[in-house]
Amino acid sequence: MNEHSIRNVVIVGGGTAGWMAAAALGRYLDNGYTKVTLIESEEIGTIGVGEATIPPLITFNKMLGINENEFLAATQGSFKLGIEFVNWSGIGERYFHPFGFHGHDLQGLHFHQLYLRERKRRVMQDISAWSMSAVAAARGRFARPGPEATLPLSQMLYAFHFDASLYAKFLRTYAEQVGVDRVEGKIVDVSLRSADGFVESVTLADGRKVEGDLFIDCSGFRGLLIEQKLQAGYEDWTHWLPCDRAIAVPCANPGDPDPFTRATAHKSGWQWRIPLQSRMGNGHVYSSAHISDDEAEKVLLDNLEGEPLQDPRRLTFTTGRRKLAWSRNVVSMGLSSGFVEPLESTSIHLIQSGIAKLIALFPDKRFNPVERDEYNKQMQDLFEDVRDFVILHYHATTRDDSDFWNQCRTMTVPDSLQHKIDLFRAKARVFREGFELFATTSWVAVMLGQHIVPEEYEPAADALDADKVAAALEEMRIGYLETAQAMPSQAEFIARCCAARPPEPALKSFDFGAMA
Ligand SMILES: Cc1cc2nc3c(=O)[nH]c(=O)nc-3n(C[C@H](O)[C@H](O)[C@H](O)COP(=O)(O)OP(=O)(O)OC[C@H]3O[C@@H](n4cnc5c(N)ncnc54)[C@H](O)[C@@H]3O)c2cc1C
Repeated sequence: MNEHSIRNVVIVGGGTAGWMAAAALGRYLDNGYTKVTLIESEEIGTIGVGEATIPPLITFNKMLGINENEFLAATQGSFKLGIEFVNWSGIGERYFHPFGFHGHDLQGLHFHQLYLRERKRRVMQDISAWSMSAVAAARGRFARPGPEATLPLSQMLYAFHFDASLYAKFLRTYAEQVGVDRVEGKIVDVSLRSADGFVESVTLADGRKVEGDLFIDCSGFRGLLIEQKLQAGYEDWTHWLPCDRAIAVPCANPGDPDPFTRATAHKSGWQWRIPLQSRMGNGHVYSSAHISDDEAEKVLLDNLEGEPLQDPRRLTFTTGRRKLAWSRNVVSMGLSSGFVEPLESTSIHLIQSGIAKLIALFPDKRFNPVERDEYNKQMQDLFEDVRDFVILHYHATTRDDSDFWNQCRTMTVPDSLQHKIDLFRAKARVFREGFELFATTSWVAVMLGQHIVPEEYEPAADALDADKVAAALEEMRIGYLETAQAMPSQAEFIARCCAARPPEPALKSFDFGAMA
């Protein structure tokens, strides 16, 4: 530590973003000098949605030393092996975007090239028959691939579904244990230093002032510091991602929870279905230019699989990103930094990634602009990668049954996405650039699932012996099937490892590890 070291970090907001940042910074800035304070307002509350995740959250838990079973038990959590898309490519059609991999590559060739070659020779099952996650998901099975897991179980990646408010509560307990101070109160004013316009302090409704060197704006869509005070600007993506409203309602579980999220397309948007241990999270995401709020609510309620457990809640948003995620001494995270939309469950990952990048580029009181610019560049790239992947789902469709789908199908997409589509359409090529979030399996699953059929496969695939390729594919397919059949159902796995229970008496740490 020296005279330039950051002394006070102030996190504004106690939703998922605020408490994730508090937990991670509390742990990583535990240097006996830096103090982390989080301010939240019970009166304002949190957005209360955001219950499906992607696999990198496992790394976040590991970084923090969080026991996965305790975390799941405390948040009514369940496992997620991917997303089932219904009615996206066309009405009555479905496909699965799995976590993990499709098959094994052979002699340096991507599995999907071999699959496409074989598909020219004979009628093939859907490519998801070669994904460990998809095969297990289709059978409602789950086993945790521990560090000792061998093929094909080791190819299975997973993420979580959880109750958003219980997750914030869980992280709050963790953060307070690592020394984060929590301040309850509503911020009514933000003061800037006259010399450089940096944020100096925030004032609460009762007159208390909280000063800081570095502020993390986790105040949600309102962007209390980053936008309302610093006017960092917002890039609006509504022309590519027209959904701007959501209605959320939990319902009773119709049976054992499935280990996957389902996204069902409707005429003017889509509906999520997120099965937790105790209930099902549901929501209709839609374009207000194409359907009224009342009609959208009716669509949602008509498509519930169980009794609604609360009144539906209406939410409004604008898809896009904050032009400067980091401005002066304010770093925005969570919804204050932008929102692509929930289709691929990426927002919590964007928070996690923002935290990791901030730790890697942590400033001192001199705030070297090179660190800020690098952070902003990396976050912009990540947001745009996610944007392109999500747009693909809307654009690559044969649906022509509504103005909404006609608009999405015929719109011009970003050049970066068009390039990816063109490469895939020609010879099924997928290249992952830089730190792109979605890997080959994801692009292949969605492109094939949404009927972007490659005209050819890579010429190098013809160099492999056709009968050997056919035999290898069959062996893999049977391997996935048999491994899935040997797994417990997700319900059995949860009952043994991480069934939700009251927080008192204190949860015991235990881990069953791999349960193939
Ligand atoms: C419809 C919808 C579905 C979503 N689904 C998913 C999903 O499946 N997966 C996923 O990863 N993400 C999802 N998200 C995104 C996810 O909900 C958010 O990324 C996540 O909840 C983080 O929100 P937040 O903490 O930024 O904001 P919020 O939860 O809104 O928290 C804001 C905090 O700031 C505080 N605050 C605000 N103003 C003041 C003030 N003046 N004084 C004091 N405190 C203040 C509030 O009290 C609150 O504590 C979804 C979002 C929407 C809209």
